[in-house]
Amino acid sequence: MDTVTIDQADATELIGAKTPMVDPFGRAVTYLRVSVTDRCDFRCTYCMAENMTFLPKKDLLTLEELNRLCSAFIAKGVRKLRLTGGEPLVRKNVMFLVREIGKHVHSGALDELTLTTNGSQLSKFAAELADSGVRRINVSLDTLHPDKFKQITRWGEFSKVLEGIDAAQAAGIRVKINAVALKGFNDQDIPDMLRWAHGRGMDLTLIETMPMGEIDEDRTDHYMPLSEMRDRLADQFTLSDITYKTGGPARYVEVSETGGRLGLITPMTHNFCESCNRVRLTCTGTLYMCLGQNDAADLRLPLRASHGDSLLSQAIEEAITRKPKGHDFILDRTRNKPAVARHMSVTGG
Ligand code: SAM
Ligand code: SF4
Repeated sequence: MDTVTIDQADATELIGAKTPMVDPFGRAVTYLRVSVTDRCDFRCTYCMAENMTFLPKKDLLTLEELNRLCSAFIAKGVRKLRLTGGEPLVRKNVMFLVREIGKHVHSGALDELTLTTNGSQLSKFAAELADSGVRRINVSLDTLHPDKFKQITRWGEFSKVLEGIDAAQAAGIRVKINAVALKGFNDQDIPDMLRWAHGRGMDLTLIETMPMGEIDEDRTDHYMPLSEMRDRLADQFTLSDITYKTGGPARYVEVSETGGRLGLITPMTHNFCESCNRVRLTCTGTLYMCLGQNDAADLRLPLRASHGDSLLSQAIEEAITRKPKGHDFILDRTRNKPAVARHMSVTGG
């Protein structure tokens, strides 16, 4: 039988996908991250202060409005969508939104719907997530020691997260573990976490702490450059650079001894902005074109101004023309102020 090859343009036309939006630096914007709530059932020390002030509930978009916004982005060429927060699974009735967006996965308009979660509610929702079209999730977990887990999350229950991971894998969802590397806290545990994650068929990605939002401690105390972590891991493991990509900012290495992948997200030591394909929407309808900059576009106004999407569509296009070249995070012990005042939980990690 003859084989028929189709190029990307034909493939795009066949599945009815839109031409993506392109920013002033020539980067196609194909990835939307949505923080569905800034609230959370944990209080990770590097992320939040224990006594956080959250957004007033009345300012939140409804799930129907968030769905309309997501659909508008998909209509403008977004192919990958991640729900995050705060903790996305604590937003009341969030599964409505997951099911609605999941329809775009089933129709082929969206390549991937995924989420980043602390895992606390996963055992409850895993089966329904899988059913709605979620094939892959990131679970944040910084240590395998229950006591240290309590210390870092303040309010979290380690066993619940493990149950959640079990449930997700049992439902056929691929799980990736994300851990923030913290000097003097979990840096010694990373080799064991790597063996554990790879032993369960999960990739592990390490993240450098970013100076976002006031917390109760000085982030510079635990800041750990991943270049140093990689050197340390190289004493025990054979690490080879690979070209594997998930559409995110991680660079991957393969670990020969485990056969698994290790991702490194290095916003502080290696700027990955040149390949940035994403924008971030908050639960109040503010669009941040960069995690590390303050410029934003209000989409709530055009969303609510009319039932049609043309004003919204224009506002999204205008926002993309303002996508900056990149972030310029620095950890500054002398200034003692985060580079970006809003917490990661507002824009979503
Ligand atoms: N609650 C969910 C969770 O923890 O996975 C989703 C939101 S959380 C803000 C997303 C990711 O951001 C988590 O992996 C978390 O560890 C990471 N994170 C939070 N604050 C951070 C910071 N200041 N620097 C680097 N990563 C951070
Ligand atoms: Fe909550 Fe995630 Fe922030 Fe931890 S990192 S406090 S789980 S939003």
